Amino acid sequence: MREARVIRPGQTIGILGGGQLGRMMAIAARQMGYGVVTLDPTPDSPCGQVADHQVVAALDDAKAARELARRSDVVTYEFENVDAAVAKALEQDAHLPQGSRLLHITQHRLREKAAVRAAGVAVAPFQPAWDAASLRAAVEALGLPCVVKTTRGGYDGKGQWVIRGEEDLAAVVESAFSARSESAARAGGDPAPGATLASARVEPDEVDEAPLIVEGFVPFAAELSVLVARRQDGRMVSFPPAENIHRDGILHLSIVPARLPEAVLAAAVEAAERVARALDAVGVLAVEMFVTREGRVLVNELAPRPHNSGHYTLDACDTSQFEQHVRAICHLELARPKLTSPVVMVNVLGQHLDGVLREMAAWPGHVKVHLYGKREAKPGRKMGHVNVLAEDVEAALAQIRRLGVWDRV
Ligand code: AMP
Repeated sequence: MREARVIRPGQTIGILGGGQLGRMMAIAARQMGYGVVTLDPTPDSPCGQVADHQVVAALDDAKAARELARRSDVVTYEFENVDAAVAKALEQDAHLPQGSRLLHITQHRLREKAAVRAAGVAVAPFQPAWDAASLRAAVEALGLPCVVKTTRGGYDGKGQWVIRGEEDLAAVVESAFSARSESAARAGGDPAPGATLASARVEPDEVDEAPLIVEGFVPFAAELSVLVARRQDGRMVSFPPAENIHRDGILHLSIVPARLPEAVLAAAVEAAERVARALDAVGVLAVEMFVTREGRVLVNELAPRPHNSGHYTLDACDTSQFEQHVRAICHLELARPKLTSPVVMVNVLGQHLDGVLREMAAWPGHVKVHLYGKREAKPGRKMGHVNVLAEDVEAALAQIRRLGVWDRV
């Protein structure tokens, strides 16, 4: 078992990855008096701008990860696609309270879904696909519509296709399999087309080799996420669930309190905590879920780190997800976060940035602008977010409409 160690202000936290999540972790850590070192290939990264030091190197550079470990008393990460060699280097040379098992699971959608289901929590029906034949068989078995996703590396709706008919399926077969030979796609063995994870015929390595997962389409009434913080001794605290609205596969709004019955929110928190416990998560774990019209909760995705849908906590809770993450990995007592105001978080993507900069000077104090210090604004790139505090979430949503920036684009 990994040793639980109290890390105190004055000591240094190493953050693998220098994006906005690292930046906001670093700001929380520095406020508490910790030193911060980050590793990122882009000099002066969002996190590097607020850290004591940045190791400028590729994220899969194991030697650089060792350098990060040497400079740190505890190491954490701000993204889940940590290279296996880097994870190994950190486990050997650093104090990594989060370990690497959960990283391994959350790097692969099939492993993740199987682990959530094994924890006794519902997920959408799913099947692996290795090639055109098994993809067609999976689509047939799950029925239309369904969703095809790459098992690795997808984010913000990338590597994801909704199949509504033969035309969509043909397009996915073409884009997923035309560039790779069928034999390369089946490198992990020769699984029977249409075999499911529940089937005894599918070995774990075969599942690991599957490039695609096919999921039944969930006609959800709402999407929720729960941020759970857990320490190595099993202590665990959750933030109030956020109701999330996506546009083009990218998070657009997080609404808190979520506009759903208390019993559904309680079930969401229970599911998230059950997953965190079963997977022995340490630090903040984000659990994204669908809520069906009947009020059933199905887990869609995990992120073993603070998450975009928890940014509302920066202004609307007495402890943010970033401070809580620092508390968890430093083995400090976890806070019991209270929601201090209804809030709606709206993301600032590249295409929104000019509007925000033009308009924000006139915005009142309860409209909280957070920008990440990224040099280049591209469409769809997360440049910042705005937390709008109000009497209730309907008033916050109305205020966002009045701000004008998001409906003009
Ligand atoms: P993901 O990358 O898995 O988080 O998916 C991004 C978004 O696509 C989700 O937040 C949903 O809005 C939508 N989506 C993903 N999977 C499904 C599904 N099985 N059924 C319906 N919508 C989905």
